[in-house]
Amino acid sequence: MTDRARKLLVKGGRVYDHDGDVHMPAFADILIAGDRIEAVGPDLTRQAGPEAEIIDAAGRLVVPGMFNAHYHSHDTLCRGLFEELPLEFWLLYAQPMGADRPKEEVRLRTLVGALESLRCGITCVQDMLGLVPLNADYLDIVLAAYEEIGIRVVFSPMVFDIPAAAMTRFSEEFPPEIRALLGDRALAAREQLDFLNDAMRRHPARDTLHWAVAPFAPQRCSPELMRACGDLAESHDLALYTHVYETRAQVLIAQDQFAAHGGSFIQYFKDIGVLGPRLNIAHSVWIGREEMDMMAEADAGVVLNHVCNLKLKNGIAPVCDLREAGVRVALGCDNCSTSDIQSMFQSMKLYALFCAGSDPEPGPPLAEAALRHATLGSARTARLDGVIGALKPGYKADMSIIDLTDSAYLPFNSAARQLVYTETGRGIETVIVDGRPVIRDRKVTTIDEDALRREVEAIMPRFRADYAEIRRSREAALPHMLDAHRRVWSRDIGYSRFINRTPYRTK
Ligand SMILES: [Zn+2]
Repeated sequence: MTDRARKLLVKGGRVYDHDGDVHMPAFADILIAGDRIEAVGPDLTRQAGPEAEIIDAAGRLVVPGMFNAHYHSHDTLCRGLFEELPLEFWLLYAQPMGADRPKEEVRLRTLVGALESLRCGITCVQDMLGLVPLNADYLDIVLAAYEEIGIRVVFSPMVFDIPAAAMTRFSEEFPPEIRALLGDRALAAREQLDFLNDAMRRHPARDTLHWAVAPFAPQRCSPELMRACGDLAESHDLALYTHVYETRAQVLIAQDQFAAHGGSFIQYFKDIGVLGPRLNIAHSVWIGREEMDMMAEADAGVVLNHVCNLKLKNGIAPVCDLREAGVRVALGCDNCSTSDIQSMFQSMKLYALFCAGSDPEPGPPLAEAALRHATLGSARTARLDGVIGALKPGYKADMSIIDLTDSAYLPFNSAARQLVYTETGRGIETVIVDGRPVIRDRKVTTIDEDALRREVEAIMPRFRADYAEIRRSREAALPHMLDAHRRVWSRDIGYSRFINRTPYRTK
């Protein structure tokens, strides 16, 4: 909790301003009063007063805290476990490793993800938590862990009333015992909505806690649940996050199962009344060109997660087409078992590079655009525009202070370009969230990091044994999955999101 009377003066750094000189940001002081930025300007010592605590930012770059707009905290202990697996196969193993876990593990996995995020300059995460079981004690543990470490969270436990098997096209043809391995159960919509309402009532939004509504995906939610989520978001003025067009299989699902809506998830959202400025779709790798226009017209947004999309063999989101259509863009990192790191530096760099790789003409996008997407664009998804994402008076005091003596800045030619193309997170020295330094001179101030490491090591033998058992028990599903996967890829849908392979010349 931030002390409202406390004044903090971040003194003498270069302060990154989206609207100023993004290459050589001007030197300025930032005066923080409580949780907010009170003033930004040259020498604010007198305005700060004698009681203000001073953080020396000379020789440093001060940047707005980044907001990871697509994240799930439930599988942070799975980092480094997976490789080679397309999404549907990965789900087979990754989903159980986030479900029915011991309470202590739930606390530790939340802290591990939040700690890594802070160390990478992420001051806010959109946690689309997979909470299995959907249990109030578990939810309380997650929120207590976020409060303990002091990161900002836009929190939305995922809801769904259609079982996980629906993620795999043609799974309806699998034998029942194989469908059971994929997940053949789901709670009723009413039960989940009651749970959400109760959770929001017990944990009202406060300084670093914000709520959102997250129906898992159109193929995992009945129209009634999707509509109810839209109504809930509307009545509480919240954002709506969901997964759309992550894989090619999902295009087939839309074509085959949503034919009444033109075979389009976006048209479906429009028809049931949830396509609008509250809606954010994660991924949108396989979105069609006309659907992008519908998204832009409705001011609905996309959250791009390039690292995870590559790792899970989904393909590459059509960044240039999305830009051309005018769809608003935010950036995310997604699960720790897929991205394997929570790094918006990687997300920004891939965004800029995929734009470059999609358009041979000289011209934008520029690194500064990637920085906007990772801060202001992500803030907009949560309806926090004007609240976080920039270092301006009135904004929440969320920022990172970066050491410019790090070799990534030798020599220092451009703040925007070097943040996007050369920073790894290594330069981050101090991180402030809601006016409170949660990392100070590279040391976490809110939790005992060594103790966390010891506690995680202690639970890992059981975790690894459970994982080995999950791998073994899911083996029977693999031939069925592979067959379905190949059927998906054998249907011509008229466009590609993969890097084209090179045919042999035949003269
Ligand atoms: Zn996701």
